[in-house]
Amino acid sequence: MATELLNKTPEVPDLLPRALRDGEGRIMLAGLGRDELAQALASIGIEPKKIRMRVKQVFHWIYNYGVTDWDAMTNIAKPLRETFAGAFSLARPEIVERLISKDGTRKYLIRMAPGIEVESVFIPDVSKTGALCVSSQVGCTLTCTFCHTGTQRLVRNLTAQEIVLQVIAARDDLDEWPTTQDVRKLTNIVFMGMGEPLYNTDEVGDSLDIICDPEGLGIGRRRITVSTSGVVPQIVPMGARTNAMLAISLHAANDELRTQIMPINNKYPLAELMQACRDYPGLSNSKRITFEYVMLKGINDSPKHARELINLLRGIPAKVNLIPFNPWPGTDYVCSDWSTIERFSDMVNAAGYASPIRTPRGRDIFAACGQLKSDSEKKRASTIRKEKLAASQIALQ
Ligand code: SAH
Ligand code: SF4
Repeated sequence: MATELLNKTPEVPDLLPRALRDGEGRIMLAGLGRDELAQALASIGIEPKKIRMRVKQVFHWIYNYGVTDWDAMTNIAKPLRETFAGAFSLARPEIVERLISKDGTRKYLIRMAPGIEVESVFIPDVSKTGALCVSSQVGCTLTCTFCHTGTQRLVRNLTAQEIVLQVIAARDDLDEWPTTQDVRKLTNIVFMGMGEPLYNTDEVGDSLDIICDPEGLGIGRRRITVSTSGVVPQIVPMGARTNAMLAISLHAANDELRTQIMPINNKYPLAELMQACRDYPGLSNSKRITFEYVMLKGINDSPKHARELINLLRGIPAKVNLIPFNPWPGTDYVCSDWSTIERFSDMVNAAGYASPIRTPRGRDIFAACGQLKSDSEKKRASTIRKEKLAASQIALQ
């Protein structure tokens, strides 16, 4: 037994109750933060004065080297490695499905725990960057009418560990360890998968601390974008806590239309949303807000809508992402014609706002924006959607 272990292992009644465990009941360390690692190491009796150093080592092995085997940790003596291996696992959760699109987009379905299946999507870019789109919840409580995820009821919030594990799983799959290698495909993170990140701000904030740690996954805060449908009270606190870039799913620039397609607008109308945007910490021309605008044929795509959008954005350092609507089974919406999207984009550009049209990615593997939804839930889709639609129409009357 290594000498730095205390003679008597401390009793830890409720050690990390939310941490994932492997089939043998061992706590899975990948995805945990430094404080949690310290608690875990303390629980097996590592002397208090050695804990900081051991956490630093283990953290670096997990997040810089991506090791899954204790024996790879060569700066830790063998007996201690064996003690660690008996108590903790370096395994990853199971990837139950992995699809690769013709355009290189990769979609993963990861089973974190029974019934907790999470989708994330890696989107390579021509400019040598690549973004991983991560989920923050399983399902969503909101019911935006054009969004497939919105037809899936909320199962639960993801923990910071489960968010970080999506990044680790992608790095495993892309063969990108160690993190410090010169060229990396996975350079950016966008919280644009399943769920509303601002209904899970604590875990999202904690996950950023781990993802951005320079001794680990090392992704800069400016390369992380958190997207929200407009949970107004959380926007400024989230910015202050994370320093991340902000994206707003806007999709309509007048209250009547926005409430129709995004019921959250009823609770937090546009005036309040735009004020929160103006107050976003660090907002400047080099830290602009991205406004996402899905192009729905005959709904929000006319020149009048473009003018409303331009007026709404006045004075805010902003860029507009025009997203061609991605269809999904059971939706009545249709994507705007290409010429309509281009006209809309030209108008917004002429007003001084960059407004690129986002090329749909991974449509063939159902990985594009708003198409995410755990497979097990897909069957329930049409019934629930119809019920929700009926309910929101009643609410609007
Ligand atoms: N809940 C957060 C994070 C999800 S981001 C949010 O809504 O911002 C997913 C993005 O894809 C959002 O901008 C969403 O509005 C958009 N989206 C949803 N359904 C879509 C669809 N069918 N086609 C294109 N974009 C869609
Ligand atoms: Fe939820 Fe965002 Fe989809 Fe709306 S667009 S239902 S907030 S995931």
